[in-house]
Amino acid sequence: MSDFPEFACAYAERLAASSPRFARQCRSSGLEARSAPSRKLADPFGELSRAGRCPGLKQRFPDRVLVMTSGRCFMNCRHCTRRWLLGRSEIADTPERLQGCVDYVRARPKVRDVLLSGGDILTLDDEKVLAFVDAFAGLDQVEMVRVCTRAMAVNPGRITAKLAKALGRSGKVWVNTQFNCADEVTDEARKAAARLVEAGIPVSCQTVLLKGVNDSGAEMLRLLRALSSARIRPYYVFQCDPVAGIDHFRVPLEKAKRIERYCAERIGGLSLPRFVADIPGAGRKVPLDLL
Ligand code: SF4
Repeated sequence: MSDFPEFACAYAERLAASSPRFARQCRSSGLEARSAPSRKLADPFGELSRAGRCPGLKQRFPDRVLVMTSGRCFMNCRHCTRRWLLGRSEIADTPERLQGCVDYVRARPKVRDVLLSGGDILTLDDEKVLAFVDAFAGLDQVEMVRVCTRAMAVNPGRITAKLAKALGRSGKVWVNTQFNCADEVTDEARKAAARLVEAGIPVSCQTVLLKGVNDSGAEMLRLLRALSSARIRPYYVFQCDPVAGIDHFRVPLEKAKRIERYCAERIGGLSLPRFVADIPGAGRKVPLDLL
């Protein structure tokens, strides 16, 4: 689909050449054009239409905000929920816009959690990344600044020891990442995770349940074990969102529940993520066993 061209950095290209499971996330497919009419949704969570509060900031829940820091990623993941929004959402890309976002948060003392996302914040240079982090970490009310990046899986060399150390200095930064199959947990990725953990930063992973990538109990278990051994905490496994162009990745609900049960019977709680769906209008991530 021309609106979301194939793109991958050099590291991701190399990984795709060696892993068919990763290549499915990286290479576009004719199946993207065949979404069912009911899935012709580009913005299921109203990011463009409803959630925007000031240029570059979205809020769907009272205690947290999402700040759009960049319109670019290291790879255009074919299953991306934001595939229709990347490059179209307003970004906090000037000092004035960043200040506007900080002022918005400061005026709402209930906000304690700031997600720095995009796009991928680590496509920015260190100075800009730290300008975002420090601006929000400097607010007393903010307890967590979440750096949301897929760099650890798709461009781990971006997470240098220098950057990790600088991210760790406020004591408020958490890194949220996304790994979808064990092939992505390479030696380079493990080293990038270690640099963050050793800088005092908790690292957690949100996985997307994807047909042909991780839709079996054995493959999901392999991923969860690989993440845990790299000191990356598996946090959520998401059902694919109802977004146009990604229907072919969706795993039927009953199968998803079987995968969850398979993992729960074989791995301890610290390594077991919550299997959830993000449903438009729900006030929370909905556990699959409630669906
Ligand atoms: S890194 Fe995240 S935002 Fe970027 S294309 Fe992949 S899933 Fe989408």
